[in-house]
Amino acid sequence: MTTAAPDGRAGRERLVEIALPLPLPRTFTYAVPQATRHPLVAGSRVVVPVRSRRVIGVCMGESDGRALGSAKAKAILDVPDPSPALGPDLLALARWMAEYYVAPIGLVCRTMLPAALGVAARPAPAGKSERILVISEKLPTLLARDEAFKRAPQQRQLYELLEQLGGRAPVAHLVKQLGCSTSVVNGLVKRGHATIDEESRTRDPFVDRPAGAPPAVTPTPAQRAARDTILAGAPGSAFLLHGITGSGKTLVYLQVLERLVRDEGRSAIVLVPEIALTPQAVDRFRAMFGDLVAVLHSGLSDGERLDAWRALERGEKRVAVGARSAIFAPCRDLGAIIVDEEHEASYKQGETPRYHARDLALIRARESGARCVLGSATPSLESWRNAQDGRLTLLGLPDRVGGGALPEVRVVDLRQELKVAPPHEKARRLVLSAPLEAALHERLERREQSILLLNRRGYASFVQCEGGHVATCPDCSISLTYHRTPERLVCHYCQHQEPAVRTCGDCGLPMARQRGLGTQQVERLLAERLPGARISRMDVDTTSGKWAHTEILDRVGRGEVDILLGTQMIAKGLDFPNVTLVGVIDADVGINLPDFRASERAFQLLSQVAGRAGRGPKGGEVFIQTRVPTHHAVRHAATHDYVAFVAEELPARESPAYPPTVRLAHVVVSGLDEVAVADFARVVTDWLEEANTRFSLGLSVLGPAPCPIERIKTRWRWHVIVKATKASALTRLLHGLMGGISLPAKHDLRLVVDRDPVALL
Ligand code: ADP
Ligand code: ZN
Repeated sequence: MTTAAPDGRAGRERLVEIALPLPLPRTFTYAVPQATRHPLVAGSRVVVPVRSRRVIGVCMGESDGRALGSAKAKAILDVPDPSPALGPDLLALARWMAEYYVAPIGLVCRTMLPAALGVAARPAPAGKSERILVISEKLPTLLARDEAFKRAPQQRQLYELLEQLGGRAPVAHLVKQLGCSTSVVNGLVKRGHATIDEESRTRDPFVDRPAGAPPAVTPTPAQRAARDTILAGAPGSAFLLHGITGSGKTLVYLQVLERLVRDEGRSAIVLVPEIALTPQAVDRFRAMFGDLVAVLHSGLSDGERLDAWRALERGEKRVAVGARSAIFAPCRDLGAIIVDEEHEASYKQGETPRYHARDLALIRARESGARCVLGSATPSLESWRNAQDGRLTLLGLPDRVGGGALPEVRVVDLRQELKVAPPHEKARRLVLSAPLEAALHERLERREQSILLLNRRGYASFVQCEGGHVATCPDCSISLTYHRTPERLVCHYCQHQEPAVRTCGDCGLPMARQRGLGTQQVERLLAERLPGARISRMDVDTTSGKWAHTEILDRVGRGEVDILLGTQMIAKGLDFPNVTLVGVIDADVGINLPDFRASERAFQLLSQVAGRAGRGPKGGEVFIQTRVPTHHAVRHAATHDYVAFVAEELPARESPAYPPTVRLAHVVVSGLDEVAVADFARVVTDWLEEANTRFSLGLSVLGPAPCPIERIKTRWRWHVIVKATKASALTRLLHGLMGGISLPAKHDLRLVVDRDPVALL
């Protein structure tokens, strides 16, 4: 095909726009040679010359050549695949992401495709995979070898051993055989005689794990009604499945897929927050769909991931189950996209492009005519608002299956504990109150299991009086953060400051800085107070191995653990009938984080963790330890009342305005020099304010202020928060900013825009 260029460029040359994996917000024009190996269409991968390198990009479509000016377009070198890597719906999604998240289109495409397809210039992940040394340059003659290894006899030995082994062998094996160091291997690679291939050795636990039999259960009337409504929905329609913990949301997903995938032969994507934390949910899909399921998890090697990707593309696998990036699975004829636990923050990507997989699910479903189901016991306020406004159809599963009751929740007032405890026991009782300790003993005697949640304090400290009051910013309704030098309280949204007072303004009781407890500390205390209990700790320190989570959870499932103590990673999706007690050590930690979503997060966490108790016939009990028993997050979690929580939280998001009342963008400036960062943050703020006024965008710009986490990996951080009532005005402003402001070339300054941030830290 040939197209005429507008400038009369002879009409011979076909030009296309190529997205390249570069941090630039534009595409690049290339010429299409007369003959290509495979047809070149929008979405095809291409190999193109960039300076002297060959780079893999993605064709975004035909070009009018205007961007070229007087330059001549370089020719595309190859079209390596017979069919486009990005189908029409993914291509549309890519464009949407680039526009909405203000992200370079080439980086968006790179994010969407598996690393092995080469668009990603990223090195393969090290550590979990086996390094294979492969001969890349044959040295057939002795002369060539003498020449090549003149001063490197060990490299020659290595080369010749590798040759004997067929030109391909594991690095570890070679090093052991020769008794040499890995620097010899590196030398060989550096000289270009060999390359290193990464091959995963991590056993994929889903290969060996028995999938089990599909559940022989009859759906409840509520489950059936939800399924029928979803299936009756128009293509592209979206649903919010609000089902309390243990209400059987998974069966609804399975039944929807049974119709669309098994009966109609279409495909589906199932997103879960984290594969390692939800092995049970994954098992249920495998039990029903067997070999049709591709589990996309982070333990896959690049090669395995590519295999899974190809199998999905060819339709050999038709159910993609995975964490957020599974939203890019190349499923054709997509019938459904399920987003389980849609409120989870892990659906948001923390680097460019900073997408939210739940929002992409809605967009992709619309583009491809699939039904989209967002499920949660504690939906995000954004989704709840969307359901109220009719953009999502609300479906409810109000009861636990089998008539099981939600566990009874007891709120333990730590202020009261302090009052009644003998002086030498006060410190301990704040960690393990008398009622919680007694309940743990009871479970041990009855051979039942308990889960204890310890949400660690983390980075910022707030001050709280003994009466439970916390100092908050008068303008932002955000907890003030304690700073030691000079001693003061600071709002990390607007920079409001006040002296750190000794007594509470509300009740006159002494104020104290709250310090964090460690899981180890609690573990020791438990071992002391409950001798003989089999305690298992689950936090980032005990779960560094890829499948450590799964192992710990499997042990709990087999009944080898009496008390599972952990951070919030234990709150999700677990379904253990013998867990009859859940304890929350300190609910106040989450509630007082300096973030507008702190209450919502705390409510979700408390509800989710409470939902782990009493999932079997023995019932269950939950203890929440807190100094603020009247806080709405605590009160409504205690009665399992999401709707009541929302009824109090939504008005609080109106003034001052936060999502879902307004749209947010989090603009972060970082760099190596504190003053330069603050100065540039000021420049950015001025730019935003000026543009906002000049174009009457009606946005509000807040800041600049230091981020609550002021420094990460030696980089100082300041932020500006932009609130908008209209998404389009925000898009316009942010594109203007990224294209219009020049970054001073010093102190490694960086400017990052995070649209719809999940946290403003
Ligand atoms: P949720 O995700 O809503 O918290 P699950 O989907 O994990 O709940 O279901 C809770 C438990 O109830 C699971 O063990 C599941 O197998 C079981 N279950 C779901 N639906 C039914 C049903 N209709 N009949 C019997 N058991 C069911
Ligand atoms: Zn403030």
